[in-house]
Amino acid sequence: MDAKHLDQDGYGEASRYTYRNELVDQLRQMGSLEVGRLTLRLPREFGFCWGVDRALAMVEEARRRFPGRPMWLLNSIIHNPKVNADMGKLGIRFLKGPKAEAGALDSLGPQDVVIVPAFSAEVEEIQFLKDRGVEVVDTTCPWVIKPHKRTQKYIREGFTTIIHGTVGHDETRSTCSLVRHHGGQFVVVHDLQEAEALALYLEGEIDGDRFQNRLHDCATPEDFVPERDLQKIGLINQTTMLASESRAIADRLRLAFQRRGGEAALEKNFRDFDTICRATQDNQDAATEVVAGGVQLFLVVGGYDSSNTRNLARVGDAQGVASFHIEGPECIHPGWIQHRDRDSGEILTAENWLPAEGRVTVAFTAGASTPDAILGRVMERVAEVAGCSETLAKET
Ligand code: SF4
Repeated sequence: MDAKHLDQDGYGEASRYTYRNELVDQLRQMGSLEVGRLTLRLPREFGFCWGVDRALAMVEEARRRFPGRPMWLLNSIIHNPKVNADMGKLGIRFLKGPKAEAGALDSLGPQDVVIVPAFSAEVEEIQFLKDRGVEVVDTTCPWVIKPHKRTQKYIREGFTTIIHGTVGHDETRSTCSLVRHHGGQFVVVHDLQEAEALALYLEGEIDGDRFQNRLHDCATPEDFVPERDLQKIGLINQTTMLASESRAIADRLRLAFQRRGGEAALEKNFRDFDTICRATQDNQDAATEVVAGGVQLFLVVGGYDSSNTRNLARVGDAQGVASFHIEGPECIHPGWIQHRDRDSGEILTAENWLPAEGRVTVAFTAGASTPDAILGRVMERVAEVAGCSETLAKET
């Protein structure tokens, strides 16, 4: 099933409108709202992306099209705990991930309907489903297909794919499996530091072992041989990475190839192709703008396992603004806030996160998989702990 099967009504039913919030709607129009001593700001772009809207609409359409048949999600539909919990309430069960039902994969048959999430799946997983004869509803986002296509071009031309991405992220797992399926090689670099190790290897400053030791486990296939597989490299990005970091990585690797063999080698052996998705780019650009507009606090709302949300949370760092990545209103308390640390990935608490008195301008944004309803409740909760609930009630 693909997007052409979606009717107009179906698209609205399960899209962002299922999760809308009045305060968010109001701020979407106005950009900024004075609430007592608080100024609340939202960027011009935030939250649910086209790919997530589309995936949810396809789930809704599948429920109408296959009534009464067992319906499964291969894994989380998107990286948001509330949306995945809602899928469970609709009777959709999980084959993999933390909510997986033991033994369910082995008992799949033609009566079952299996939904492949927006970030796609490994080639072997799709083949397994086909072999079982199940009805597959593939919600893979077209933006995810873009790096897939590019990597196949690289393989045809003899290039090793360098992926700026996260080892183990569903989308990158899917891309890596595709590369292996087509007989190619890959290296996953998570950040500029890991790209630096690759650059130093290319420049002859460190050997292959030292280079690989600086990467995450499974960042290269088991049969990867640096001396053989790093003669020609082509870059892509996991669609949800921090665009500015992807550009810095491309620049560093380009320089390494130049130093290694001059302009001629660069042209022959180096390729760069930006596969950051439009929604990720727009959300990052808009967040940068709103933070640069003069705010004291930046709250980024989204699942802790959401790559694009994690990267949005890094936008405030460059501006020196206090930033917190939180999952929802339950993270917010009068004296402290629970958040995901951007460097370590640990869930920490921070005290005195909101000045107890005086005017405060707070900017918010939300990841591409965060419903407006959660963002709205976060804003309401901030107003509550700042003692501005009554004013907010009058303003909205
Ligand atoms: S964040 Fe981008 S790639 Fe991911 S689902 Fe949304 S539009 Fe597609």
